[in-house]
Amino acid sequence: MKESPEENFPSFSLERYRILVEEALDIIYETDPEGNFTFVNRIASEVLGYSRKELLSMHYLELIREDYKQNVQQFYRNQLASKEETSYLEFPILTKKGKEEWVGQKTRFHYKGEVFIGAISIVRIRTNRYNFEKALKQSEEKYRGILERLQFGLIEVDLDERIQYVNDAMCQMTGFSKEEMLGKIASELLASKETKAVLDEHHQLREKNQGSAYDAKINRKNGEPFYAIISGAPLYDLQGKRTGSVGVHVDVTQRRKDELELRRIQAELDKYTYALEELNRITSEFSLGPKEQLNQSFRFISEYFGLPFGFIAEFKEDNSTTFIEVLSSEILKQLNKTYPLEQTISGSAFLEEKLIAINDTSGTAYEKLPSVKKLDLKACIAMPVYMDGEKFGSIFLGSSEQTKDFSQYDLELFRLFTRYISYVLTAQKNQNTLKSRRESLLQSNEQLKSRQEFLSAITRFVTKILDEEDLHSLAWEIVENVIGEFDFVDCVIYVVDEKKQCLVQLAARGPKDKGNRKIKNPIEIPFGKGIVGAVAKRGKAEIIKDTADDPRYFKDVGGFRSEITVPIYFENKIIGIIDSEHPEPNFFTQEHLETLTIIANLTASKLKNAQLKLQKEKSEKELIDREALLRTVIQTALDAVVTVNKEGLVTGWNPQAETIFGWKAKEVMGRPMTENIIPINYREAHDNGMKNYLKTGHGPVLNQRFEITAMHKSGREFPIEIAIIPLKLGGRTTFTAFIRDITLQKNTREELEKNLQKERDLSELKSRFVSMTSHEFRTPLTSIKQNVDLIEFALEKKNPEIKPEFEKYFERISSEIGRVSSLMNDMLLLGKIEAGKVEVRLRPMSIINLTKDIISKLSVGREDNRSVQLEIKGLEREIHADQSLMDHILTNLLANSLKYSEGKSNPELTINFENLSELQISIKDFGIGIPEKDQKDLFSSFFRATNVKNIQGSGLGLSIVKEFVNLHQGTIEVKSEVNKGSEFIVKIPTLSTKSI
Ligand code: ADP
Repeated sequence: MKESPEENFPSFSLERYRILVEEALDIIYETDPEGNFTFVNRIASEVLGYSRKELLSMHYLELIREDYKQNVQQFYRNQLASKEETSYLEFPILTKKGKEEWVGQKTRFHYKGEVFIGAISIVRIRTNRYNFEKALKQSEEKYRGILERLQFGLIEVDLDERIQYVNDAMCQMTGFSKEEMLGKIASELLASKETKAVLDEHHQLREKNQGSAYDAKINRKNGEPFYAIISGAPLYDLQGKRTGSVGVHVDVTQRRKDELELRRIQAELDKYTYALEELNRITSEFSLGPKEQLNQSFRFISEYFGLPFGFIAEFKEDNSTTFIEVLSSEILKQLNKTYPLEQTISGSAFLEEKLIAINDTSGTAYEKLPSVKKLDLKACIAMPVYMDGEKFGSIFLGSSEQTKDFSQYDLELFRLFTRYISYVLTAQKNQNTLKSRRESLLQSNEQLKSRQEFLSAITRFVTKILDEEDLHSLAWEIVENVIGEFDFVDCVIYVVDEKKQCLVQLAARGPKDKGNRKIKNPIEIPFGKGIVGAVAKRGKAEIIKDTADDPRYFKDVGGFRSEITVPIYFENKIIGIIDSEHPEPNFFTQEHLETLTIIANLTASKLKNAQLKLQKEKSEKELIDREALLRTVIQTALDAVVTVNKEGLVTGWNPQAETIFGWKAKEVMGRPMTENIIPINYREAHDNGMKNYLKTGHGPVLNQRFEITAMHKSGREFPIEIAIIPLKLGGRTTFTAFIRDITLQKNTREELEKNLQKERDLSELKSRFVSMTSHEFRTPLTSIKQNVDLIEFALEKKNPEIKPEFEKYFERISSEIGRVSSLMNDMLLLGKIEAGKVEVRLRPMSIINLTKDIISKLSVGREDNRSVQLEIKGLEREIHADQSLMDHILTNLLANSLKYSEGKSNPELTINFENLSELQISIKDFGIGIPEKDQKDLFSSFFRATNVKNIQGSGLGLSIVKEFVNLHQGTIEVKSEVNKGSEFIVKIPTLSTKSI
């Protein structure tokens, strides 16, 4: 509903309006429909800094801050569109000086009829209020934020106490949701009757504008109460009018509980403190002895717990119980029997090492224990007691009536008391121990004294044996002193004989003592045998308490019941044994063992030294014996043996030397050797050689056989073979010469040499002769053959009818000529071979092809049709060989095989390539064979076996074959048996051949 101003305001004259407008504190202006100022009042010019004139030429938007211009313009356009007469808008403007002001503008649009004709606006500067409101809003938000975050429950109520606002914490505290609380009357929703009265009381204070804090029991949604401290204050609006009140709630339930608990604890603590003080008083009461203190404090504790009977007892494994302290002994009397530990509460506490406190046994497992039944025990407390850290027994307090719960402090006190008991018991025990320690100290003092005596005995002992170097005297010294110093009746020292692996008795005092430091029937004990042998094997000293019980014991002398056996060690090796026996069993003590071990240690190195010395003497003696033996050998030697010392003087001259050199030993001994047996020419060389050897240790003529010339007593020089051996013996150098007169051998050898030379000359002569004769024979043979051919031809021409008559003579002449010429050829070849004139030309060749040729040549035209059977083994390959020599070898062997097996089956030739490094050729026939005795000479020239009978031959073929095989670095062998056949096997190395 629009009201006209006439109805709202009393009427003013226009003049009064004008004054009002002009004097108004707000800016008032008018604009035309476009927004240009048409009127401004005085204050406008004042506030905006522009003169009225300036303003009247401006548009209202020019004053508005840039970023707001558009919004403001839009706002008024909307107003225009909606035909709204008045509006209010706040926005920032800028004065002429650039100062920003927030303004609130009320604008009224004027219309003439329907036409918009302009606007009047009243503008109020709102900058301060704007700032203030902004700050207020911010601070309120902050305040609420803080309250929200605090764990305080916050409620705001209005004047009727209806809840206007609650925070989350309040919801949590009460269990109600915000919706459930808003609008409700706080005291009705949250308080019980009696609390409501309190709340109302404080509510009235708010009405008097007073704040207050109080605590009250508040009900949660689930009916459960909680205690809260409430701090309430009235709430006002900006005008300062009370709008309601606010209450901050803090849940103090826990704190309340804690307080109660604290009070309870305090009471307990006070009781506990009192008990402690009381205990302390009793236990520091000097007028009371420890026993009385214990009794009184125990009594006090019993009263404290309200448990009238009790005891402190010692328990043993066997269930036996010793009571140390008893309260109300009449009760114990009721327990006329002791129960096994696990059947009593005190026993269980002991066994399980724990504190047992029961204020009511009914319904517990303990109820059924006979001891509990017997005493009608309702409440009790028990704990193990320790003495010196060791479990000792238990402390027990009990009552036939129930008690209240044991508090932590009760238990603590009981533990403390138990510890006190433990302490008292330990102290008592320590007193006893101290006493016994004093006694043992006294005792060990005694022992120390005897130890001192013992040590001085050892010292005396060692001093006595210190100078002894001889093994036997040393051993005797030891046994005698052991007996003397340590009250033994028997002592034997054994030493180890490594070779025989046994122990040898070295010295013995006692029944085995023969007197004069000799042993009666000394024995040897193998390692491992008897007690001594066992100790030597195991290396550990032993005391045999009773020899009758030890199966190892064997009687040497007998009558002994105990034994002590200690090994003597040197550098971790047992070198001997000290052994002592005694007629009484159990005689030897640990101390004896120690003593003998010390003696064994002290004497070990001495004993070892003595043993070594003895051994050295023994081996030296052996050496001397060996030398003596050597001497006899030398004396009887076949060679002359001459020994010379390093000065060159003769120290040995055996009978043979006398024979060879003519000098008697006594004539040369101690004289320079050069003087007598070395010829004058050689003496200097000999002296120099010896000097050089002594200086450098280097002697080229030593340790080997060589020949030189020696001189006989008569001055005759003769050849000798000599070997000089230098010997270093005990630091002395001697030279021993073994000399042999080789005059005879030398002569024979020279003779032999001469004969050999003769033979060589002869053989040369022979080959020259052979070579010459064969030449000489061959020439006439050729001409004979030619002439015979001529005669044959002439005869054919002139007397063909009688030619057949002569045919067989011609044939024989031809064949004989052939035979002789082939013999001549062979001889010539042999001569060539012997003269070393045959050259070998190794060329790759096919042995198979060659063989096949030879076989066909040999078999062609034979009346008996015989041939040679060829077999090839392995993969055929070329070999490096001399074709013509190989031809000769094979032709000869194959021809022989056919020749010496007339009428038998064909000979077999096998060529074997299987071995890569050699070619093997075997020619086997089944003919007359070769007698065994002839086989060795088969390859000598002109040799023929005894069984050839009338088979023709020269005995040259095989010797040439052998030479040719040799030229190929090969071998030839023969296997043959008379009338069965022969086999010739040729092996030619073929390493460098390649296969084909
Ligand atoms: P010959 O010209 O006598 O055959 P060889 O030097 O060839 O001369 O042989 C020497 C001797 O070896 C022969 O005289 C013969 O006694 C014996 N001999 C050689 N080959 C055979 C063979 N295959 N069977 C039996 N004896 C043989």
